Amino acid sequence: MERVLSGIQPTGAVTLGNYIGAMQRFVQMQEEADCYFCVVNMHALTIPQDPELLKQRTIDLVAIYLATGLDPAKSTIFVQSQVPAHAEAAWLLQCVARVGELNRMVQFKEKGKGSESVLAGLYTYPVLMAADILLYNPKRVPVGEDQKQHLELTREIAERFNRDYAEIFTLPEPYIGEVGARIMGLDNPTKKMSKSADSEFNYITLLDEPKKIEKKLKRAVTDSENVIRFDPVAKPGISNLLNIYSSLSGKSIKELEKQYEGLGYGQFKKDLIEVTIDHLAPIQSRFHEIRNSGEVEQVLKQGREKAAAVADETLKRIKDAMGII
Ligand code: ATP
Ligand code: MG
Repeated sequence: MERVLSGIQPTGAVTLGNYIGAMQRFVQMQEEADCYFCVVNMHALTIPQDPELLKQRTIDLVAIYLATGLDPAKSTIFVQSQVPAHAEAAWLLQCVARVGELNRMVQFKEKGKGSESVLAGLYTYPVLMAADILLYNPKRVPVGEDQKQHLELTREIAERFNRDYAEIFTLPEPYIGEVGARIMGLDNPTKKMSKSADSEFNYITLLDEPKKIEKKLKRAVTDSENVIRFDPVAKPGISNLLNIYSSLSGKSIKELEKQYEGLGYGQFKKDLIEVTIDHLAPIQSRFHEIRNSGEVEQVLKQGREKAAAVADETLKRIKDAMGII
């Protein structure tokens, strides 16, 4: 069976961008592949975090995974830090990756903004991500479009290792959706939606209450044309809302353009608010149930054992090939 792996950082509440770009597809993929989904809590440390909040967000993210429909009987769900092979492999692969490659990473430039006080981990983080992936030898990695460059780096590292040391890695393919691979910020539709954005009007989280969803979508930036048409260059705001609408309702963008012919932004937003609230309601109620039960601890215990069995085996092969006793 084909192997699949992906992860989300516990840097904030999960947004519709994370859900549409990645998590919604995790749930589909677990039906057809041997899936590993992790909470990459060590990645979160690349930006200063409050320790107590980080612990809580890590557990919450596992509960969100379960609430969106991931089934521990089908998928291996685990926390990165609980499988120590990730950190160890990251060091070994830092001695395979090159500084020139890391210098080209767009996300480091965007998040680091050239500041001297940026943490060193933010710079080397793509190698930890490569370790996360390569330890499991997955064929496909479902991610949003922003992670495409990091996946390319992972492939380069794997290729170099296979050539210079030993042929042990499968080259992973990014698996990026056709719709919703890049959900934009509601307050600025020219930049991607991010859970660590400064303003909460940038995103909708999976746990936002109906009133909040309504407020945020009403405020979402559009344009003055009052025509519902998909055109990401000329109409980035409306095109983004169409993407969200389509992903949550299952209707194609073409269908939606037709449905809203002759109607204005008021009606369109009103319906989108309803679609969003209705889509998130069952996820929210399952989240609260799960968070108040002992399920997360149980799932993590089983997950870390299953993940470590695979990761430790690959780590052994990496070390052996590199001459590390
Ligand atoms: P941060 O701002 O802390 O980096 P994030 O919202 O970018 O948070 P990540 O944990 O870095 O979230 O990414 C988790 C997954 O969600 C990745 O697969 C990423 O590609 C995807 N993703 C993140 N933002 C978007 C977006 N706006 N649209 C589609 N997919 C996204
Ligand atoms: Mg990110």
